[in-house]
Amino acid sequence: MIDLHMHTARCGHATGSLIDYVEAGRAAGLEVVCFTDHLPMPEGYPQHYTMRHEEISAYLEDVTAAAAFSRKTGGPEVLSGVEADWMPARVPFTREVLERLDVDMVLGSVHFLEDWAFDDPDLIARYDSVVIDDMWESYFREVACAARSGLFDVIAHADLVKKFGFLSVADPSPWYELVAEALAEGGCAIEVNTGGLRKPAREIYPSLPLLAACQRRGVPATMGSDAHDPLEVGAGLAQARELLVEAGYRSLVLFRSRRAEEVPL
Ligand code: ZN
Ligand code: FE
Ligand code: FE
Ligand code: ZN
Repeated sequence: MIDLHMHTARCGHATGSLIDYVEAGRAAGLEVVCFTDHLPMPEGYPQHYTMRHEEISAYLEDVTAAAAFSRKTGGPEVLSGVEADWMPARVPFTREVLERLDVDMVLGSVHFLEDWAFDDPDLIARYDSVVIDDMWESYFREVACAARSGLFDVIAHADLVKKFGFLSVADPSPWYELVAEALAEGGCAIEVNTGGLRKPAREIYPSLPLLAACQRRGVPATMGSDAHDPLEVGAGLAQARELLVEAGYRSLVLFRSRRAEEVPL
């Protein structure tokens, strides 16, 4: 089993040392893990969800050290990655930052609609003033743009918009098709993220219909726990595998030096 989405204390909203995550990965019997902590955003964007700019190289050194520790102690192979925010107004900036970054994998995430971090529990009141169907449509349009941008290897939690259980009344299938098509054309993989199981949505990201739409279009898939605590490493991955099989997947991909490699499901 592989877990390609794990955070570290550097983002400010996760706990545990990298060694704790690696040891949890070994205890869970994982073969490969990838650290994907939140990449800082430029000035004018919130700074409290991510590591700081000055911390990037120390973060990558920590990952290298954790990989060496894991090799010595019979733990999983440790890959390096980041979770980068989709900022439609800052595509050239993001491209430049990512080009200079020496990592195995870049997750792309839509956490913002305009300036609203809609997945932040502290900002949940704003749901009262939006039309959920309109929000869902805007969200999936942004996911499709992110998928086509060429910035990311994988789109993380591709229906994060359901996190708090505010579901669209409209049939979301057309938006799912839009996203699946964008992923296929953008050469981007989809992530099966078990974090949703621990949130009010109580459901893996993405839902089965969205994942099946991706499978029909030949979009490769990865999986991860989105652990923000060592206790969450590997959480729900057996369920993720079941969902992938149900959607028709027979294999996964992982990334080394930002190149996809097929691995058994
Ligand atoms: Zn986080
Ligand atoms: Fe995220
Ligand atoms: Fe994450
Ligand atoms: Zn995440």
